[in-house]
Amino acid sequence: MSLLEVRNLQVTYGTGARAVPAVRGVDLSVAPGQKLGIAGESGCGKSTLALALLRLLPASARLSGKILLDGEDVLAMKWGRLRAVRWAGASIVFQGAMHSLNAVHRVGEQISEPILLHSGTTPAAAKRRVRELLAHVGLPVARADAYPHELSGGQRQRVMIAMALACDPRLIVADEPTTALDVMIQAQILRLIEQLVAEQDISLLMISHDLAVLADTCDRLAVMYAGRVVEEGPARTVYGSASHPYGRALAAAFPRIGDTASRRAPRGLPGDPPDPSALPGGCTFHPRCPVAVDACEREDQVLVAAGEGHRAACVHVGAALPTEKRL
Ligand code: ADP
Ligand code: MG
Repeated sequence: MSLLEVRNLQVTYGTGARAVPAVRGVDLSVAPGQKLGIAGESGCGKSTLALALLRLLPASARLSGKILLDGEDVLAMKWGRLRAVRWAGASIVFQGAMHSLNAVHRVGEQISEPILLHSGTTPAAAKRRVRELLAHVGLPVARADAYPHELSGGQRQRVMIAMALACDPRLIVADEPTTALDVMIQAQILRLIEQLVAEQDISLLMISHDLAVLADTCDRLAVMYAGRVVEEGPARTVYGSASHPYGRALAAAFPRIGDTASRRAPRGLPGDPPDPSALPGGCTFHPRCPVAVDACEREDQVLVAAGEGHRAACVHVGAALPTEKRL
């Protein structure tokens, strides 16, 4: 059985003329121990999806569909159960740890808080657990006494990861966990996340705009565009030979980590994703698509099989691709 199963998830911010349909019918599943990457440019609905998983969306958001965590319906959970699940079932690591940590408390106290709340353990045992977690994430134990501003960006993100691990979750959702960090630190934090989820058999749902980062870390990739998954499949297939023109464009825009020359001068992805409150008709990618045909202006596409465990929502899937007009 899947650890996480999302079915036809829809999230709309606001109502009436100002409604923003940020997530428009997403299905995905994460098996125990699996690492799923979610890619897509800014504005495609990735964070909205992540927040919806643990019902962390603002009150203006309306959502429908099903979210099953270990078989349990997240949208039907009572408040107390939801609070427990947020730490012990699945936990989230956000971008920019400075905003998620409390500036006036020492980081050790912040890591021990969920442990004390959710495992009913003694303060002394929680302290021991904090020291163990700090060691796990590669921080000196003495840093427990530091305040967030005394730590570097990378150290703060390590603290966030320690907090996410504190109650032994089965799933970690990491939303752009390294985007705010410089390249060297980014690589260290990615290795740390990979090592920890492998050691502790935790499932990972990692979100990034950088397809190369995801391909390096994850087993499977889902590419989001305008609130939908437009391609999903094995990480190597989606990164190396995407079937959707958007998947190919993202892969070209974010060349391999380590390939410094091409990462410094990526082939750009022209234009911007559409404003969700004014989506183009037909396939939402058609105005930017180098291989769009007339039908793409009229017909939206659904995910169809593009290979073994690989699906894409493009009229050309299965057909010979026309020569690219632009790009
Ligand atoms: P991503 O994480 O892929 O950049 P988001 O989920 O943050 O995308 O945003 C998806 C869309 O929803 C964007 O158009 C964004 O402007 C809009 N959005 C995000 N949060 C809110 C909110 N609280 N109220 C209204 N619109 C929002
Ligand atoms: Mg985001």
